[in-house]
Amino acid sequence: MSNYAWVCFSCRTAVRRSPVAKDVRCPECASQCECIGYKTLVPARTKIRDWRMLSEAFYRSRRNYVFGQQKRRVRRIHDLEQEIARLEAMPLNDGRTLAAKRLRKELEELRAQQQAGSDSQRRSALLAAQRGR
Ligand SMILES: [Zn+2]
Repeated sequence: MSNYAWVCFSCRTAVRRSPVAKDVRCPECASQCECIGYKTLVPARTKIRDWRMLSEAFYRSRRNYVFGQQKRRVRRIHDLEQEIARLEAMPLNDGRTLAAKRLRKELEELRAQQQAGSDSQRRSALLAAQRGR
């Protein structure tokens, strides 16, 4: 697997690591680096404006990704609730009971993810506020 660029936006440094590398640290400030892929050009350190634009684009696309993920999850939760209600409104049989049980399990997992997601969202909002973003 080819190496990807991992950057520290504060120090304007980049290191190359595998895209699945864990805990990639900035060689200067030791804070966590962000992976910007292999296609994005890393600006020269002196190009402050380019770094700012790169950072804005990076966080914008991450926010959009997370937002899209939440939207898909909310839609699926809604569909599951409707399907469960539809199954439960019909006369009971083994097949429907089993199907409703499976759907309820998926629903619980999605709701747990949604809860975890909003917790981590609060954390990153707090972090972004501290960084003055
Ligand atoms: Zn750094």
